[in-house]
Amino acid sequence: MYTIDALTINAKNWEDINWIDIENADILKVLLNELRQRRNTTYFKWVKGHNNNLGNEKANELAGQGANKEETDQVSMKVNKKFKIEGARLQSLTFKTAYRNIVKHYEGAMTENTKSRVEDAQDEVERTTGIRPDREKIWTSLTKEPISRNISDFIWKTIHNSHRCGQFFINIPDLADRAQWRMCGDLETMEHIIIHCEENGRKQLMEHVQKTWEEINKNEGNTEWIEPTIGIIRGLGTISFWDRERPLTQKSNLYKVLISEAIWTIWKTRNARCIKEEIITSPNMIHRWNQAIRLRILVDRSTITREPFAE
Ligand SMILES: [Zn+2]
Repeated sequence: MYTIDALTINAKNWEDINWIDIENADILKVLLNELRQRRNTTYFKWVKGHNNNLGNEKANELAGQGANKEETDQVSMKVNKKFKIEGARLQSLTFKTAYRNIVKHYEGAMTENTKSRVEDAQDEVERTTGIRPDREKIWTSLTKEPISRNISDFIWKTIHNSHRCGQFFINIPDLADRAQWRMCGDLETMEHIIIHCEENGRKQLMEHVQKTWEEINKNEGNTEWIEPTIGIIRGLGTISFWDRERPLTQKSNLYKVLISEAIWTIWKTRNARCIKEEIITSPNMIHRWNQAIRLRILVDRSTITREPFAE
């Protein structure tokens, strides 16, 4: 059963995660490759063992012979490249799985589109902070504080353009109308949702976020604000504020927290409206964001300053 399930049900998912942490991956990959080379569909049927089934008896016999050999045979583990599915299908990876995979496979498996999105993130971070992060830092920074795990995953998917919205639905006949955002009628790309939409409450929330930022930083006299673009979001982990030569870690962390929680609020709101048909106003969104930030402050007092959120 294990083998049948592995080949018929699990294989596709396992290929998607590039077989990371899957037992017997080497053998299963070869088996799968053999099956794909057949010209016909292969069906599997489980049979009870030791029950006078010819194929089963023969298989037992061979297994017995194999087990009694003095030396093990060399089994060819070669695969036919034509039938090999290369690399992780990064689109479906969660950040955690992908991160474990990075060292081994990641650079090589990145698509050109992903590369250009990462490059845009590098450009945007450089444009606004004066420091160009290297490519690897764009994603490794996502594993670090203070961006929370689920939002890191969200940003990771945004780098890979793998959310189910907009373009994703256009080619699916029954769902094509989901491509349009029903509040404004524009094509619902991730960039539209979190950066450009004028109708989904994003604008009011972002204004509130910026005001909050300025409020916190006004004592220090420098309220310089980095307007988030899609590149800034994708490179968010690498944003840093400086006082000449001195990195302002707290300030940088504050920015990351405020922005990451804001895009998360926008995305969750969008889903609640789209999927659960909830009605959420922009004051609701601001309220949710405030609560998320309060919670962050309770959990992690050292990361961000308390003041404007004190109740
Ligand atoms: Zn819109």
